[in-house]
Amino acid sequence: MSDKTIPYKIYLEENEMPRQWYNVRADMKNKPAPLLHPKTHQPMKAEELEAVFCKELVKQELDDTTAYIDIPEEIRNFYKMYRPSPLVRAYCLEERLQTPAKIYYKFEGNNTSGSHKLNSAIAQAYYAKQQGLKGVTTETGAGQWGTALSMACSYFGLDCNVYMVKVSYEQKPFRREVMRTYGASVTPSPSETTEVGKRILEAHPGTSGSLGCAISEAVEAATAKEGYRYVLGSVLTQVLLHQSIIGLETKTALDKYGITPDIIIGCAGGGSNLGGLISPFMGEKLRGEKDYHFIAVEPASCPSLTRGRYAYDFCDTGMVCPLAKMYTLGSGFIPSANHAGGLRYHGMSSVLSQLYDDGLMEARSVVQTEVFEAAEQFARVEGILPAPESSHAIRVAIDEAMKCKETGEEKTIVFGLTGTGYFDMMAYEKFHNGEMADYVPTDEDLKQGFDGLPQIG
Ligand SMILES: *Cc1c(COP(=O)(O)O)cnc(C)c1O
Repeated sequence: MSDKTIPYKIYLEENEMPRQWYNVRADMKNKPAPLLHPKTHQPMKAEELEAVFCKELVKQELDDTTAYIDIPEEIRNFYKMYRPSPLVRAYCLEERLQTPAKIYYKFEGNNTSGSHKLNSAIAQAYYAKQQGLKGVTTETGAGQWGTALSMACSYFGLDCNVYMVKVSYEQKPFRREVMRTYGASVTPSPSETTEVGKRILEAHPGTSGSLGCAISEAVEAATAKEGYRYVLGSVLTQVLLHQSIIGLETKTALDKYGITPDIIIGCAGGGSNLGGLISPFMGEKLRGEKDYHFIAVEPASCPSLTRGRYAYDFCDTGMVCPLAKMYTLGSGFIPSANHAGGLRYHGMSSVLSQLYDDGLMEARSVVQTEVFEAAEQFARVEGILPAPESSHAIRVAIDEAMKCKETGEEKTIVFGLTGTGYFDMMAYEKFHNGEMADYVPTDEDLKQGFDGLPQIG
């Protein structure tokens, strides 16, 4: 079907790795709404944010005008251990599907943390070290972010305290041990080590925890200890900025062979990998230079873009974090057990939320059995065993390729393969045993989350 003039893997040279991150907000006419103080509802000032976050990261968070920001040499050196990551032409998948579509995926699973999260973890650890801090605190759901941050902290000699959602802590002991191998301390959340943890345990005894709850604990732990700050693995605009390296490398690789994608697809949890992948392409679209079809893919069990409200909301359950305007299901929304742990956050990056609200991006939700069907189909022909999160993007890439088969269109599809699924074999097992359910919340379920949204003037 194809003459294979494009290599199976497009590798970039080390010196072709980007020297700057791209800040898509610089090209947005409608900027994302500012973070608000949880009590006064006034825009957060830098000094207020600096009590919680590292100084340089606050600067990046608030900067919506500088298009390109230098990647410090120390971060680039770390990136060089596992980047540039390959852009793979999915010839084998195309052949299996018998589609005229040309499919590419950017593979971010080629490091020990197993996902793209290391791209931001190393940047955040670097700025914490630069500031002379002793350590950082964070939360982790499925464990990918905690693992990435542990690696980054051990590299720079920082203490790393991870609050891990209790259900994952119990179900994913191997993730926990990877973090401990890199010297992190891991506490199941909610815990008795924080005031907010105690409060949540009192109100919900026996709770298996949630991301929003672990965030509250990590923030409290950071602000209670001298020389510590809190870091977050997604949602914030600084994280999208760091993840822009994914999109910049993808664009460089495609440009080398004169390829222009028609459709760009990514899974969306808090929005960082998708935001990073599409940023440079979205920039072209915003500047009116080119047009692309962007698709965000989310689980039907946690549909923040497709069924959420665009409103100010709390980022955490304990309501200690700033308010962000985003597509949200409400900070009180607790998604049903879903095997894509990294996609279970109630809200979405304020940058992606604004772009979506402006009609610049499409969003789709998919049920998990169909996601695992796609995962397996992909694994069997392309070799890589994908993370459940990443497989959301695979699902829609295959759907789009099958549409091309019907219409005969030779569209070029690019998707983000964010990571590998070796720690998710319990989910694969459920799928293989036919025990996986496709729970979709009812409008009634969602209403409960919406009823808890704060009233902002
Ligand atoms: C965390 C994670 C995601 C989702 O997070 P985003 O911030 O939306 O990118 C997707 N895939 C993998 C493998 C992850 O670990």
